[in-house]
Amino acid sequence: MVCRSHPMPTTIAKRADRALPIAARVVAVVATLSVFAACEVVDSKSAASKKSDTAAAPTVVPESARGTVATDSAAVTPVTPADSLRRGVADDTGMVKLYPPEPRRGGVVFALAEGVTAPTPRCTWKSAPTPCYRTSQGTLVTIPLPADEDAGTFTLTIDRPGGRIVRQVTVADHDFGRELIFLTDSLYKKATNTREIARDARAVRGIASVESQDQRWTGRWREPVPGLRSAGYGVERYYYRASDSTRTIALDAQAKTRGTFAGDTSDVPFTGAPSWRHSGLDLPARRGAPVVAPAAGIVVDVGDYILTGRTVLIDHGQGAVSAYFHLDTATVSKGDVVRAGERIGRVGSTGLATGPHLHYAIYVHGKDVDPVAWRDMPQWLLVREDSTRTATR
Ligand SMILES: [Zn+2]
Repeated sequence: MVCRSHPMPTTIAKRADRALPIAARVVAVVATLSVFAACEVVDSKSAASKKSDTAAAPTVVPESARGTVATDSAAVTPVTPADSLRRGVADDTGMVKLYPPEPRRGGVVFALAEGVTAPTPRCTWKSAPTPCYRTSQGTLVTIPLPADEDAGTFTLTIDRPGGRIVRQVTVADHDFGRELIFLTDSLYKKATNTREIARDARAVRGIASVESQDQRWTGRWREPVPGLRSAGYGVERYYYRASDSTRTIALDAQAKTRGTFAGDTSDVPFTGAPSWRHSGLDLPARRGAPVVAPAAGIVVDVGDYILTGRTVLIDHGQGAVSAYFHLDTATVSKGDVVRAGERIGRVGSTGLATGPHLHYAIYVHGKDVDPVAWRDMPQWLLVREDSTRTATR
């Protein structure tokens, strides 16, 4: 194990979570793990795996064999790694636009291999196939960097006729923070109903992993309710009974969330506090406030689930799905085609919620990302004029 030094905090910050108003005198205590420990424990296995992924030092190759890197590709090492030089693989001469310049855990990488218009493009990320799409400008890959995956330097490949484009992408680390949340008895009961939670998670995950071929939206994504901001995505949350708020809760220095909110498929009985990493943003809003579709798409689910309450999922095409939890009411039905800005429901506090708010989540190829990172996609992605694309996996 590795122990990183931390500044020693002296106080525990308490606040009423604005995103989770005090419906039943529930107070969220925000605490970094370092409040309870002098150091952060880093799993030696993951530290080792990070090293091994970066250990394969890129081989310097002649300029003619290097890819041309667009100006917004600062995070990419402009050399071709050894694996593109294997026998039978042509030199990498592709032009790849990459965004953002400094990707980090929780975000999204957008990569466009310009001029690569193979009818069935094939791409890999971390040595595994990843969906990519043909556009009039080239081959587009969107790579989710969910908060529960490690930072490091990873390989992206895009096959082209007679060759392969290879890029190294460095994903920076990010601390999403930790929170303690106190629940009333009835809410705590929901949070510990592992069977239903697992059943629902399998359903929601399955729907959020839909990969339909056509991009159904155009233009910059809107806010589903006013006031979109990224604080709260990826936070590790530990849930306790409300009565526990009268005493100090000590988080173990090695505390690890057991899964992802709405995505925890383990129904094995467990001891200790329920805990999930937060898979979206909690946007404060009054009960009944309208929730609008941030972009066009098709409603693929309207359901009631134990943690997420009244839930709407919209498929926007090419692996992008948005989710709206804890709604008071849904004003759309499964199968509805919605336009950007069209009302899909009203804010509520159904499911595991301590007050009215909208939980807004974006899934890319089935993995949750910070919705703000998704909204802040590059301008060059928004000006595409083509509407027909071919999907491959
Ligand atoms: Zn939430």
